[in-house]
Amino acid sequence: MDIELEKDSAPNIEQFLKERNIEAVVFDVDNTVFATGEGFVEDVMKIGFKVAKYVNNDKSPEVIAQEYSDMTFGTYVRRGSKPTLIDALCKEGIIKYLGEEAECLVDEIIGDDLKDFYKKVPMLYKNSVLAIRSVLQSKVNVAFHSHAQEDWTKRKISFLGNELGGINLPFLATSIDEIKDRESWMRSFALVGGYVKNIMVVGDGVEFDLVPAMEAGCEYVVWLNGKDRPIPEILYEYKKKGKFIYMIKDIGDLRYLSDDYLI
Ligand SMILES: [Mg+2]
Repeated sequence: MDIELEKDSAPNIEQFLKERNIEAVVFDVDNTVFATGEGFVEDVMKIGFKVAKYVNNDKSPEVIAQEYSDMTFGTYVRRGSKPTLIDALCKEGIIKYLGEEAECLVDEIIGDDLKDFYKKVPMLYKNSVLAIRSVLQSKVNVAFHSHAQEDWTKRKISFLGNELGGINLPFLATSIDEIKDRESWMRSFALVGGYVKNIMVVGDGVEFDLVPAMEAGCEYVVWLNGKDRPIPEILYEYKKKGKFIYMIKDIGDLRYLSDDYLI
């Protein structure tokens, strides 16, 4: 708490960017600016409670919902945590949890529950607006690059623009049928212009944000590691190649970025 108060006094991101000649910052969207994963987990749990009504044993609905959720996300993680539509994932989870014979129950269980998932904007992280405002005030170009549907991304980015006082923010949505790779990051860099080496990327994904951005030529990347995951070896390999990789635990830390955050 003391650290928070102390930090609130002097953000230094403007100076940080200026000293390193960074002219633009491109943000990943989900789980970097928006708490998309949290909303996803919440809705999968809701389906888990409905699944519990079809189970005949002495386990509590809470236990069943949790088991269902763990099983559903287990599949997702084993596939490399690639963005997957929530209804497809939940359907698969139901069949896995209840067995093949439950296939005919899937639509009945899910009902209309997930119908509006992609029409809603997930919650912003507590410090997203503050952090992005500080970056905008540093007079650098800002853009966003999601790995999600175009219309859902548009909703999120317009919402964010409104939170920032009604501004238009440029974005690129890479479809979930595609890979967020070096080429798609290059396309997002066209939104801000300038030399790629002067663009800094902020994202939570090592494989789909940081690595392809560095492969595209970025020298500065920021890893939002909110879940305190161990630093993957591949990041040390890029560090050896001369890349500057910063690790932050909260998007708000971006306002105070310094070499203390280097991996
Ligand atoms: Mg992400």
